[in-house]
Amino acid sequence: MLKPARPVTEAARLDELYRYEILDTLPEQAYDDLLAVAAGICGTPMGSVSLVDAEREWYKAALGVETREGGRDVSFCGHAILDPSQLMVVEDALDDPRFNDNPRVLGSPNIRFYAGAPLVSPSGHVAGTLCVMDREPRELSPFQRESLVRLSRQVVTLMELRRVNRQLRQHLEEREWYEQQMQDYQRLLELHNEELSTQLGVDPLTGLSSRRAFTVALEKALSHAAMEQQPVSLALIDIDHFKAINDVHGHPVGDQVLAEFGQLLRRLVTPASIPARHGGEEFVVLLPGMDRARATREAEALCRAVREAQLSQPLTVSIGVAAWRVGESTAELYARADAALYAAKRGGRDRVMVAD
Ligand code: GH3
Ligand code: MG
Ligand code: MG
Repeated sequence: MLKPARPVTEAARLDELYRYEILDTLPEQAYDDLLAVAAGICGTPMGSVSLVDAEREWYKAALGVETREGGRDVSFCGHAILDPSQLMVVEDALDDPRFNDNPRVLGSPNIRFYAGAPLVSPSGHVAGTLCVMDREPRELSPFQRESLVRLSRQVVTLMELRRVNRQLRQHLEEREWYEQQMQDYQRLLELHNEELSTQLGVDPLTGLSSRRAFTVALEKALSHAAMEQQPVSLALIDIDHFKAINDVHGHPVGDQVLAEFGQLLRRLVTPASIPARHGGEEFVVLLPGMDRARATREAEALCRAVREAQLSQPLTVSIGVAAWRVGESTAELYARADAALYAAKRGGRDRVMVAD
């Protein structure tokens, strides 16, 4: 018996084989099918898709043999991979000095006939063979030989598909990982922004005062007005039919419109006024030094300016105005402005109503 020699390119050959990541994987129908067709064409009861590892041959598919692997030194395939250009045919192992006393010939599975087509990768390395075997000596016709070679190329194609598929999946996983990182980072930035906005008393979407900061400013303005005996008024502003914008264009567009409206409001009010986002699509403006009549004119101008503004979505607003009464609490002032706003809505929207 002759042990198979190692190909001169053995190290590179093994690297190539390992790149397929196929050794010790589960059986797959596609390989079993190709082997069954090969054995059927050649009329043999045994066969394997055999991959030659450093010290063993391992079968991705096996037909008529019990084991899934065997020692490389006693393997037929170890010899068959030595010439990538040739189908190796051993018509009678007992007549071949390489195999006549091979334990796999003298004992189980009692191989007498062997034909193995090298599995040649696109870079020219041989991973193993597609082989068929019999317990009787036999010969192969030219058609059977040709078929075995053609089928061996199909096995390589399957292995290549497997490799490319795994690569693609890996790229995809990496991309998903990066996207996840970006999303996490984005979320972190948003959280920081929100935190900063809260600390500064700013509504992050519109850049106007937050409700909390506004409440503090309002308390201060009322006590200042009481002390100085100055008038002060409040305008509650609610965007008309805002829900329709969300419904038709989606929530992100709604957000964009709210941000635009916030900027518009800041531009429209007098410098002493304090505009704020009261919540949702409701805004509030503190009008220091303005009595009922002035606050009403201011609100009327605001209402008209919104109607005529060139925003990405046309808007109108309803406004309820209330002038502060001496001794009145912020809650009472709000309640009167709110009732006026409600009256403006009921009256047909896009208008100003003033509390008595
Ligand atoms: P009305 O003229 O009676 O005020 O009608 P409306 O549709 O403006 O009022 P409604 O109270 O029925 O709906 C307010 C909508 O505003 C519903 C809500 O989804 C939307 N909204 C509130 N806050 C936000 C926000 O921060 N972003 C967006 N995109 N939409 C918001
Ligand atoms: Mg509204
Ligand atoms: Mg509302």
